[in-house]
Amino acid sequence: MTQQVRVRFAPSPTGALHVGGVRTALYNYLFARKNGGKFILRIEDTDQTRYVAGAEDYIMEAMRWCGFEPDEGPEQGGEYGPYRQSERKEIYRQYAEQLVESGHAYYAFDTPEELEKMREELKAKKVANPTYNAITRMSMSNSVTLPAEEVQQRIDAGEPYVIRLKMPSKEEIRFQDLVRDWVMVHSSTLDDKVIMKADGMPTYHLANVVDDHLMKITHVIRGEEWLPSAPLHDMLYRFLGWEDTMPRFAHLPLLLKPDGNGKLSKRDAEKHGFPIFPLKWTNPADGEQVEGFREDGYLASAFVNFIAMLGWNPGTEQEVFALEELIDSFSLERITKSGARFDIAKAKWYNEHYLRAESDEQLGAYLKQSLLDEGIEANDATAQKVASLMRDRITFPGDIWEQGKFFFVAPEAYDEKAVAKKWNEDAVKALLNYKERLLALDTVSAATAKEALQATLDELGFGFGKAMPALRIAATGAMGGPDMMEIIEVIGREEMIKRIDQAIAQLP
Ligand code: GLU
Repeated sequence: MTQQVRVRFAPSPTGALHVGGVRTALYNYLFARKNGGKFILRIEDTDQTRYVAGAEDYIMEAMRWCGFEPDEGPEQGGEYGPYRQSERKEIYRQYAEQLVESGHAYYAFDTPEELEKMREELKAKKVANPTYNAITRMSMSNSVTLPAEEVQQRIDAGEPYVIRLKMPSKEEIRFQDLVRDWVMVHSSTLDDKVIMKADGMPTYHLANVVDDHLMKITHVIRGEEWLPSAPLHDMLYRFLGWEDTMPRFAHLPLLLKPDGNGKLSKRDAEKHGFPIFPLKWTNPADGEQVEGFREDGYLASAFVNFIAMLGWNPGTEQEVFALEELIDSFSLERITKSGARFDIAKAKWYNEHYLRAESDEQLGAYLKQSLLDEGIEANDATAQKVASLMRDRITFPGDIWEQGKFFFVAPEAYDEKAVAKKWNEDAVKALLNYKERLLALDTVSAATAKEALQATLDELGFGFGKAMPALRIAATGAMGGPDMMEIIEVIGREEMIKRIDQAIAQLP
């Protein structure tokens, strides 16, 4: 029987979730769905000093917005809970003790001053990277160097201590990452990591491995920044006797700056004015605000498609994937090794694509929201009509209003270049003639407005190029835009005539 796939997204609630984190969650979700497995959310909050209130809610809301909620997690519950590490505190100690008993970990009593002294001494001896390791542990205060009775006495006396992993001095650690293939590290380059802190809380490494084991995780899919920790985790699985059920690792490539030089950061986002967080948020700890894709007008479908392609490709030319299609096409084999360049132009391209595919009703609703904000009334039919006319020109929902204001308000100014080029005596002549013809119409529709314009041109012996730009300038203040006759139909005869009069009065 093959094992059921179980994967987890394990964020630490230390602030807003960056696109890199959302991508990790997405790939875990896709992998679970593709393989009929389970997607678990585990909150890694053992480091109380970095805990930020509200961050967990942010994570949940971001996942809900994206459309991939966990099967098991703090809100959903599940057989392997609790899903917050702070609520699992008692679980970890027994494993730390088990490691001490089996000789793979030890108690260390060193005070901060002693640790500092050790570092200073090593630095004086020109050791580049002074660490607590197989060599230095021998001159420190720990259960490797102290007699057993003294260790017991110190513990009984309530002296603070940590538990450190006893990293072997000469061992080659090898494991096969599903993205990076074989990774080899020599244990002499690793230090004796603290696995249990003096306050009785486990560190990330112990809690992460214990929980992945107890929650029966089959694949650990996470960011590349965790690759250096993987050999240590590999070691922990072996020392705990869990080799046989050790999960497979897949470390995802870094997200790179727009120019491809280095890791994408919050500073880049600020500098270039693009979001790198899914949702807008104010950090209650320091009042810092971040912009969000959602609030900037990105659709969840576009955002998800965009981040899916940051570090994965289907092996074909296809770029547009709805979530269901991503599930169908996803595989860990197609995750790239090299970093993925973050290109906001691509995000906009996706947004355009998904936005323009929405129904008139939906686009109309976006416009009605903008109108409401502006205090302008419009019925649904008009909003939908305008939205459908603007469809091919918009990137964000707010663009329907921004770029189509003229459907609701007369221009306040006229584009100077357009006026200089196209506003002249003939243009005014054509508009005056056209105005009379509009007045004479029974009903004004795009079709009758067009017939009237043709009649004007015929009478004056003008081509479209003489009258159309002037009509646009009068109606919208600029050139370009959707079909002029449709604009007339929406704004109506009276308003169009008013705008013609206004333009003639204001322009040279
Ligand atoms: N808590 C870690 C983080 O915040 C989890 C890393 C992992 O997935 O193992 O990214």
